Order: sequence, then structure tokens, then C-alpha cells
Amino acid sequence: MRKKIVAGNWKMNLIKNEADLLFNNLESKKFPNDVMVIIAPPSIYLDSFSGASNIYISSQDVSANENGAFTGEFSSEMLSSLDIKYSIVGHSERRQYHNESDELIFQKTKMLIQQNISPLFCCGESLNERKSENHFNIVKSQLYNVLNNLNASDFEKIIIAYEPVWAIGTGLTADSSDAQNMHSFIRGLVKESYGDRIADNLSILYGGSCKPSNSKELFSMEDIDGGLIGGASLDSKSFESIINSF
Ligand code: PEP
Repeated sequence: MRKKIVAGNWKMNLIKNEADLLFNNLESKKFPNDVMVIIAPPSIYLDSFSGASNIYISSQDVSANENGAFTGEFSSEMLSSLDIKYSIVGHSERRQYHNESDELIFQKTKMLIQQNISPLFCCGESLNERKSENHFNIVKSQLYNVLNNLNASDFEKIIIAYEPVWAIGTGLTADSSDAQNMHSFIRGLVKESYGDRIADNLSILYGGSCKPSNSKELFSMEDIDGGLIGGASLDSKSFESIINSF
């Protein structure tokens, strides 16, 4: 049985007392037993939230390097030393604003896996790529390295987040059948590389303007195992309502 997951990506939002309020609120809530709740606060707060007991804590990113003269970066080993078990990699904002390539993202993915941290590996096409009906090829190419250059037990640590770039922070959401088609395509690729058992156990999250008004329908689709939530994760009521919408 694959895990149902709702993960909140806070991005670069909330000063410390606002972050504490939201964190404490989520820590005090009772969520469905079968739903895993993850939050990815700004890295500067990771240490103070790493002892969470009701929710899991994720980093938003990690360095591709092991250690050394890389000002401003932090390593997967440092995350591990805080007992962090999850990290987003390859978010479209990193790909877009920091020119992260598929190779660099794969390097980061391997760094995380080495430390036994589960990568929340993001993929997704731009609007033009969808309009030109190239979206399946793009997602396949973004997944190439994790589908072909990992061993099965390493791949099993990964959670995939399909996030069409045109839906992130725009209010536009992929319609549930388009999202389902992509999720099922991704699961099919995983099946080809790693077989039925691993593909069936893989959690594939949808991200892109997921909110209380559309989460129920999205999460009811066969291959959508939860969501990676940006904007709506900053409001505890909206986030809770998404968590409770399975
Ligand atoms: C995201 O950035 O991962 C995301 C899904 O953002 P939003 O929910 O705001 O579209």
C-alpha cells in the first residue's frame, strides 16, 4: 500500500513568530492516521522544528556538494545531523531562477539518498510545452536519471511530485483527468524501470494551485497519492482541509 502524503512548501514566507504559530497549530492537530503530513519551512527554521512529533519536516533544497567552500549552502549530511528525513529537489522555482539542470538535481538526489533522506523529486512541464503537446516527453526527460541511474532500493526512497509549472502559484490547476493521465504515465515509466511492486508503492503527489476546493477531486484519482501544496499551506485552515480531503 502506498503512502498518502500532503506536503506543504512554505517557500520564502513567514517570519519566525508566524512560522512558530503555524507549526504549533499543525503539531496540535489530529490528522487521519493514514495521511502523512510534511512541511518544508525555510531552512533557517529547520533546526527549531526538527523535533516535531505530529508532522514530518522537509528541507526545500540541498547542496549538490558534500562540504567545503560553498557559501550559503548546506549539505545533506547537515540535514541528516538535524534528523531531517525529507527534502524537496528540483522544484520548478529552483530550475527556473537558479538554472538548475537535470544533472545537478540528480546529484542532489544522490546526496540525499546517501544520507537516507527521501527526496521529494519535482517534475513538470511549462505552458508552452503542454500547448505543443510535449509534456509527456518533458516529464520523461526530467525523470531520466532517477529512472535509469539508481538501483532499486535507492529509487524506493523517492517520492515524486508532478507540478505543471503553469499551475504553480497561478490559481490554474490541471484538471483532475489531465493530472491523472500524467501520474499514470509516470507510474508506467517506473514500472518499466523498476517493476510492478516498486511502481505500485511509489507515492506520486500533485502540485499546482491545489486547494480545499479541488483537493478532494484530485486525491480521488487512482494515481494521485496526495499533494505538494504551496500557497494554501500557509493558512492552517486551508492546509488542514486539504489534509482531510482524502
Ligand atoms: C509549489 O510551489 O510547489 C506549489 C504547488 O505552489 P502552489 O500550491 O502555490 O501552486
